[in-house]
Amino acid sequence: MSNSIDTVVSVDLGGTNIKFGLIDTEGRVLMRTRRETRARQGRDEVIERIYSGVQECLDAADGKVLGIGICSPGPLDSQAGIVFHTPNMPGWENAPLREMLAEKFGIPVNLENDGSAAARGENWIGAGKDVDDMIQLTLGTGIGGGIILKNRLWTGFQHCAGELGHTTVNYNGRLCGCGRKGCIEPYANASGFVMTFMEHIERGEKPKFYKKGDKVTPKLISQWADDGDEVAASVIEETGKVLGVAVTNLVNALNPQMVVISGGIARAGERLFKPLRETVKERAMYPMAEELQIVPSIAEDDAGIIGAARCLLDTVEDRILNINEL
Ligand SMILES: [Zn+2]
Repeated sequence: MSNSIDTVVSVDLGGTNIKFGLIDTEGRVLMRTRRETRARQGRDEVIERIYSGVQECLDAADGKVLGIGICSPGPLDSQAGIVFHTPNMPGWENAPLREMLAEKFGIPVNLENDGSAAARGENWIGAGKDVDDMIQLTLGTGIGGGIILKNRLWTGFQHCAGELGHTTVNYNGRLCGCGRKGCIEPYANASGFVMTFMEHIERGEKPKFYKKGDKVTPKLISQWADDGDEVAASVIEETGKVLGVAVTNLVNALNPQMVVISGGIARAGERLFKPLRETVKERAMYPMAEELQIVPSIAEDDAGIIGAARCLLDTVEDRILNINEL
């Protein structure tokens, strides 16, 4: 008898870093490695770095590797395994990422949107492990999203579902990175958070610690609020409220049991979560906010690699189910 265990090699492709993990079938991370993305060097160079990280994980595996789960910024078609384009990575138009990895390594590969993978990871071993229906918003450079219904990722008719960062909160509002107006993303991503702070200054408000020329970051705004700056505190409150409007729209549509908020801005804690919860309570249709939990992520930075592994396991299990049904 061997002590070897089944594992999945996991890849979280981001604009700055590529994270890799070897994950067991209980969601434990057995090893981690990473490479810089260096997206400007072009797609082929990035693919080579993906191959090298995957190989390092395969070499470390002691036992059967069930497949490779990869997640990437979208939009992408998870069924076809194609990345349509990624705004921060030139040369990725219609990249058949799943096929490339499957050909190179000869094992099953699943490609998923990074926001969706993070949600499935959180649902598997994180904040959402005891709920069946949840949505997740990841507040970062952009806003990622994922919808979990009955413990399965909801991918939709064209396998693109979960673009929750482009939920409209103001139909004639701020310009979003997607080219449209008034999505939640330019209000509650990192730069949107800073933009709100600067708008308060332009209106003549006087923050306690800010000096002209300071490089303002969400972390700094949070720090200032903790140190007693009322302007910074009101910016976090305002962001929580607008996020609450976006979450209300999603709650009214999907009636989840839990909403998970992850990413750097979520670390503002109760200053953000209190106005967020209050807004949803005020606005959601009765009784959908009554037992709804709105909570921070537990899996945090690991959610992508853990979720990408879980999505691979889901597809492998589906295939076995389908064979049994024949
Ligand atoms: Zn948008």
